[in-house]
Amino acid sequence: MNECAFCGPTVEPMSPEDLFPSWLSRLLQGLGARNFRISTKPRSGAARLGGPAQRINVRLPVVCTPCNTQWMSQIENQVKPLLTQLILKPDEPKIFTDEQCTALIIWTTIKSIILDHADVAATGAAPFFTQAQRTKLRDDWLPPNRVEMWVGRAKYAKEDSLRVEFTYSGFSRIPSLRKIHHLHAFTVTIQLREVVIQALFLRNRTKPKKGSMNYVPESAYAIQPKNLPWSHFMIQLHPDVGEVRWPPGAQLNRTGFEALTCRISSRAPGL
Ligand SMILES: [Zn+2]
Repeated sequence: MNECAFCGPTVEPMSPEDLFPSWLSRLLQGLGARNFRISTKPRSGAARLGGPAQRINVRLPVVCTPCNTQWMSQIENQVKPLLTQLILKPDEPKIFTDEQCTALIIWTTIKSIILDHADVAATGAAPFFTQAQRTKLRDDWLPPNRVEMWVGRAKYAKEDSLRVEFTYSGFSRIPSLRKIHHLHAFTVTIQLREVVIQALFLRNRTKPKKGSMNYVPESAYAIQPKNLPWSHFMIQLHPDVGEVRWPPGAQLNRTGFEALTCRISSRAPGL
């Protein structure tokens, strides 16, 4: 029996697809990209930055062929025109349509779940995303309940054509967030040339009952650090807070991007 990240156990063949599609590799290579880097901070251990690669050579056989060629391919086709435009013409002002926002949210969630499963395969840990969340994404194109997502813009540096960073953390290690220590977080930051997408997923470490010490109301998941001017750089994509108007007020430099990747993790200085 094979194990698909979205279907669970399945008799379908697995698909040896790249984490990122070939159209994206070709687009970035056409712009002169030569280096792609994947940075990870898995369940345990220090952050790792993979070596520069000539192509986005992250092959993660964690989805079945029907998933990959059907609904995931539909999402890929929906998100392609938007990402292509943002990558090629980042200066062009634009208001995202609802359909574009939805496609980008689902696309980012797909990549996050695949990264989670690749980490699970490597470490033997339990997956962050529940089977119910994964099935809901596949069947209804709905992300998990507790997710925040942003889109922003970085200054282009040649070595940063594509960077992906994912971090898994328990909030118990973040002093200012100690009161919600029973939450676990999974963050993914993707940089596609100047386009930066970041997602923060939260879930309870255990399944607390309402009224118990560990119960966290839904409202507790709005935990954006308020002391940093992230709103200049990052536009909220989800939950919906109004129009997504591109481009953001300011571009992240190299240091800013590094700070962004760890702003909600235990590595964040000053948190
Ligand atoms: Zn599947």
